[in-house]
Amino acid sequence: MGRTPTPEQLQRINSKFAKTPLKPEQVYVFRTYAADTIPIRRSSWFGEYTITMTERILRDLQKGYAEGCPLLASHNVNRLPFGLTFDSVVEYQYNGEESSPVLYTDQYMVTHTYDDDGNKVPIKTEVGDMKVSDIANGIDAGTLASTSIGFEITRPICTICGHDIRKEQCSHWPGRYYEMDDGTPKRCDILAEAGEAIEQSIVYSPAVAKAKIQQGFSQLTGERSDRGGTEEKTVYSIDDIKKVPLDEPVVCHYSKNGGVELFTRSPRRIERKEENLSNVKEMNSMSDTNVEFKDIQLAFAKAGINFDKIGDIQAAVSAALAAESEKATEALNKQLEAKGAELARVSAELDRLKTDFSDAQSKIMELTSQNEELSKKAELAEQYRKDLIEATIEAGIRAFGNAFNKERQEKYLSTLSIEELKEEKAAYEGQFQERFAGARTTKPKQQTRTATNSEFMYRSDFETEQEFRNYVGYEARRLAAEKGTNVADETEALFRKLSQERV
Ligand SMILES: [Zn+2]
Repeated sequence: MGRTPTPEQLQRINSKFAKTPLKPEQVYVFRTYAADTIPIRRSSWFGEYTITMTERILRDLQKGYAEGCPLLASHNVNRLPFGLTFDSVVEYQYNGEESSPVLYTDQYMVTHTYDDDGNKVPIKTEVGDMKVSDIANGIDAGTLASTSIGFEITRPICTICGHDIRKEQCSHWPGRYYEMDDGTPKRCDILAEAGEAIEQSIVYSPAVAKAKIQQGFSQLTGERSDRGGTEEKTVYSIDDIKKVPLDEPVVCHYSKNGGVELFTRSPRRIERKEENLSNVKEMNSMSDTNVEFKDIQLAFAKAGINFDKIGDIQAAVSAALAAESEKATEALNKQLEAKGAELARVSAELDRLKTDFSDAQSKIMELTSQNEELSKKAELAEQYRKDLIEATIEAGIRAFGNAFNKERQEKYLSTLSIEELKEEKAAYEGQFQERFAGARTTKPKQQTRTATNSEFMYRSDFETEQEFRNYVGYEARRLAAEKGTNVADETEALFRKLSQERV
């Protein structure tokens, strides 16, 4: 950090500040990053606010430090300085997003002088037992690395109205929010717009310096206790800049990492009209809300809810909910519609199935009845078949007498169709006709007996009326011959009898 001066630096020091020309080896110089325009957070009882150094105040201070300001320990203006600022520049630095001005200061310390014999004589300081070379060594070692600039802010400007925050015209309080013409809330902050350099200090650390200054003991470690205290002047911390009289200088201790502290050299304060408490509370809660307003805005925006000011949140949320509800209702209606259509489809399907079922039932009933009918018919057909087989067997017996094997013929006939049975029967009857024709004179007894046993054939046994009549004639003649009765009478009686249904 520290080094011997360049020829240019030494030339400036010797021409501008030193009473007797200094040699390079006597001089220790170092440069300090003194200040920038990054807002510094502070808090009031209204909430957080910022103090921002403008480029203009940086240039004010640059002039002052270039002219030479004392180099002190911990802003203690009651002790002799051990160094001096001899130059200062404002340079633009690129911070990754934009260029912003930075104030640098150059300091020098003289570590020793020479006596008349040319011997080195160390220069003492009022900081404890420390010599200037001790401080230079401390800076080189990094133990005294922190510096802080002390200056007066001559124009602390209100960001709401642009007036000096201490003036009557400004009714705004740092940390409070005020509604702008467009309805957006804006916080009252302070711009340090103009100022005058006072001193530059070496401090252990900003936190240590702050603690000590607030107690009124501005000192570096190593200072003897009997040197402190009574001869120190107390500084008065400003907790409310609006209560500082306009003619009371506002002193600012600013360090790059430690923020700003505001002081006055006297305890004078004025009363400002307090705003009524309920309003303050309301605005305070509003300010709490607005600290996070941007975050809230962003979070809501991600959910599709947009608003520009805090008062619009409820309406925006309501609108969004209403839209959401409408969307949900629409979706539900669509679902219902779909379900309705589905239901109608299923219902129609059910109707169709019912009809089908009904048709099927009718069909089944029809088929059942048909089946019953068919069964009856089948029964009738079976009965007819049995009767036909029986009649065929009888015809066979008539035709062949005892030679006719009834059982075997029964088996045989049961394999035949109705048509075949009829043919078979007709064939037997044909045989019988032939036998009848050839047996008029010689009639077998058994056959007669058979006939007398009323084993007659009836009308229904014959295919044609003619066959029946032939049969009746045959049997009548047989009976008449057997009984010695009249053929005509027997024919008539037999015809009547056999025309009836079989009993
Ligand atoms: Zn104002």
